[in-house]
Amino acid sequence: MTFETLVGNRALVSRLARMAAAERVPPSLLFSGPGGVGKLETAIAIAQAQNCLTLPGKGCGECPACVRIHKGEHPDVRIARPEGAGRQLKAESVRQIVSEAPSRPFEGRRRVSIFVDAERMNPTAANILLKTLEEPPPWANLMLVTSNAAALLPTILSRCQVYRFAPLAIDDLTGQLVSQHGMDRERATLLAALSGGSLNKALELEDESLAEVRSEALRVAGVVVDGARARDMVPWADQLAKDDRLLLLLHLLLGILRDVATRCAGGKLVHQDLETDLGRLAAAAPLPVWLHAYQLAEQSLQDLRDRYLNKRITISKLLAALDSASHS
Ligand SMILES: [Zn+2]
Repeated sequence: MTFETLVGNRALVSRLARMAAAERVPPSLLFSGPGGVGKLETAIAIAQAQNCLTLPGKGCGECPACVRIHKGEHPDVRIARPEGAGRQLKAESVRQIVSEAPSRPFEGRRRVSIFVDAERMNPTAANILLKTLEEPPPWANLMLVTSNAAALLPTILSRCQVYRFAPLAIDDLTGQLVSQHGMDRERATLLAALSGGSLNKALELEDESLAEVRSEALRVAGVVVDGARARDMVPWADQLAKDDRLLLLLHLLLGILRDVATRCAGGKLVHQDLETDLGRLAAAAPLPVWLHAYQLAEQSLQDLRDRYLNKRITISKLLAALDSASHS
């Protein structure tokens, strides 16, 4: 990991890289912003630049110092993470790290302490940290990483220089999923679009039963040509409305309907692995029907996401509208 391999938030990362090169990194930094946008990776890249053996000020990512920092094994670079059932940043680990700060670095040039999910410090831990934040030794840097800056003590916030990270651009995130996580581009594009620009969220979605939700979305799309018996629709709508992945299902339904319309028009599919199913749907109804179905699904998504309409009613209406889409 180096500044060059970081993805997204270019302007902000470049500014920090210039500070590191000029040895002018502020003693106390806070990186805030959504999860999975590169805050911790940036903190690690700074620590590497500060202690790299081959490219001081830049970081090479490969020398023994850079590698040990990345693994969390460098004696001068400590990374504290929440632990235990309560996922707390424990007072004793904060105390341990803070107690090392007054002594000069052993091997590197800077002593760096990184606190991951810093909002998970209880007041005792926060007060221990506060003392060091007030008077950091000249060789020390403290970096706090949080996705919930509002939960930090104001006294901590006011002592840090705050950098706000934005969600990643969808294209950047897609590229990262392909190059660093070995995903195929179609799947990466889908997950990036659904994740709202968070790498963590995209990886979570990949783990989650995405395939299962997509099968259900395919069933919903099938209502356009197969219909749905009125008797079955009520329990089905109930079940869909209760699932906390309903918005994901609607996103996937939109993708499927778009693909079916694309197939009608002879274009390339996003969900290539569903080719047989999508081909069957495309053959069973003409393009205008699928465009209409897409509009219906889009309206339902907006109703739920932006207008917070009742889930069960919205989904019941959607199923009924899809059922009659090919007759209207
Ligand atoms: Zn290095």
